[in-house]
Amino acid sequence: MPEPTTADTTPDIRSARRSAAEYAQAFADIAPRFTRAQAVVEAERCLYCYDAPCAAACPTHIDVPRFIKKISTGNLRGSAQTILDANILGLSCARVCPVDVLCEGACVMHRYNKAPIEIGRLQRYAMENAKGVRLPPRAANVNFRVACIGGGPASLSCAAELRRHGASVTIFDNRALPGGLNTYGVAEYKLRPADSLREVEMVRAMGVDFLQAEVGADIPLELLEREFDFIFLGVGLGAMERLGLPGDHLPGVIDALRFIERYKTQPDFQVPGTVIVIGAGNTAIDAANAAVRLGAQDVHIFYRRGEIEMPAFLFEYDHAKVEGVRFHWMAQPVAIVERDGHAAAVRFLSTQLGAPDSKGRRMPEAIPGSEFEVACDLVIPALGQSRLTAMLPVEVEGGVIKTDRATGRTGNPKYYAGGDCVNGGREVVDAVADGKRAALGMVNVGQASRPVHSQTLDHNHG
Ligand code: SF4
Repeated sequence: MPEPTTADTTPDIRSARRSAAEYAQAFADIAPRFTRAQAVVEAERCLYCYDAPCAAACPTHIDVPRFIKKISTGNLRGSAQTILDANILGLSCARVCPVDVLCEGACVMHRYNKAPIEIGRLQRYAMENAKGVRLPPRAANVNFRVACIGGGPASLSCAAELRRHGASVTIFDNRALPGGLNTYGVAEYKLRPADSLREVEMVRAMGVDFLQAEVGADIPLELLEREFDFIFLGVGLGAMERLGLPGDHLPGVIDALRFIERYKTQPDFQVPGTVIVIGAGNTAIDAANAAVRLGAQDVHIFYRRGEIEMPAFLFEYDHAKVEGVRFHWMAQPVAIVERDGHAAAVRFLSTQLGAPDSKGRRMPEAIPGSEFEVACDLVIPALGQSRLTAMLPVEVEGGVIKTDRATGRTGNPKYYAGGDCVNGGREVVDAVADGKRAALGMVNVGQASRPVHSQTLDHNHG
C-alpha cells in the first residue's frame, strides 16, 4: 500500500482534553437511530416492490424490500442476515452510503411525491439491533489460497466472499488496525472506528487471517506469488495531493485525510481559531464539518470553481451549511503565508471560468491583480488522493489498475483488484461490490482448474 509521502506538519495543533461524553456529543450522529416503533412504522410504509429499483441501485444488490419486510414483522435477525448475504459490510454501508443518490434516490415513493423510504436508517437499525446473527453460509467448494493486499473494504469483502466458498485467505495490511479508510478515514459522525473494527472481527470469525505487514518491505511480493494461488490488490490510492504552493510544508497545514485520521485516533484533539479547507469534494466537507465540531470558531471552504461545479454531493453541501461551514467560490490559492514559522493565512486569486477541458469542464483562470489574503490558524488541503505510483506487476492506466469489470481480473491472471485502486476513489459500497466480484471471479477460475472438495468448514474457525 503506498505510504503517505507528506511530512507531518502539525506539531503545533493545539489540543485540549475533552471528556468521552463531550467527544460523543461533538460527534453526534447526523441521522439519529430509529427507535423500534419508528423503524416498524417506516418499514410498513414500504411497498415491497417487485423488481425493486432500490435494490437495483445498490452496487451490492441488497434485497432491500426483503430486509425491510423482516423489520416490519420483528425478524431482525433475518433482516440482518439478508443484508449480510449481499454485503458483509452492511453496517458501515448503512452509515456511510450516499443513499440519496443510490437506493433512496431510486425509491418509487419519489414518483408519488412522497418521501423515500429511509433505507439507510432501517439498514442501520437491523444491523445494530439484530441478535445472534449467523454469518453468511459457506459453500466450501474450493481449496485455493488467496492473499489480499490492503485491509480496507474491498479486501474485507473479497476475503469474506472467498471464505464463503472455502478458500483460505490472508489479509496483509501495513497499518496498526485493519479496516482501511473505514477505520481511519471516514468522518466520526458517520462511522466510528469501533464499528469498522466490529466488521473486521466478523470477517476474522469467518476464518480470514490478518497479518500486519507491508508487502514489498516486510514481505517480498515474490513470496506471496509462490505461496498463494491468487493475489487480490485492494491497496487504495496514495496520499492526498499536495498543494504544490509556497508554504504548503508549514506547521499548521495538514491534508484532509491525515486530519481526519488524527482526530479519530486522538480523541482529545481540538481545533480552535479559523480553519481554511481548500477543495470542495466530499472529503473536504467531512474535514470542514469535523473542524466545526472540534471547536473551530470559523471554518471556510474555498473552491476555485463555482457552486455548480462543486464535486461534493448536494446533501453533503447542505449538511455542511447547517453545521456552519462557510463556502467561498471562484478563489484559487497561490501561497500559504508564514508568520513565526506557522501557517498564518492563505493568499488567493479570484478566478473566472475559461474554456472547457477535454472532459468538458470549464477551467478556472486566475484574474490578474485580484489577490487577497485570509488569516487562519489551520489550512486543510483536500485535493483528492494521488494515483498509484507503486511498481505492481499489473497494468496501471491513468493511475488506476486496469481490470476486467465483470471479474476484477487484471491482465496478469494471478492478480485481481478492486476498490479505489481500480475505480479511482468511489464509495465504500463500490469497493465492497468490487471485492465480491473479484472473489467470484477467482472462484470461477479456481473451480475450473482445481479439484472440488466437499467439506464442511468450522463456522467458528479463527
Ligand atoms: Fe420499498 Fe422504495 Fe424499495 Fe419500493 S423502491 S421496495 S417502496 S424502498
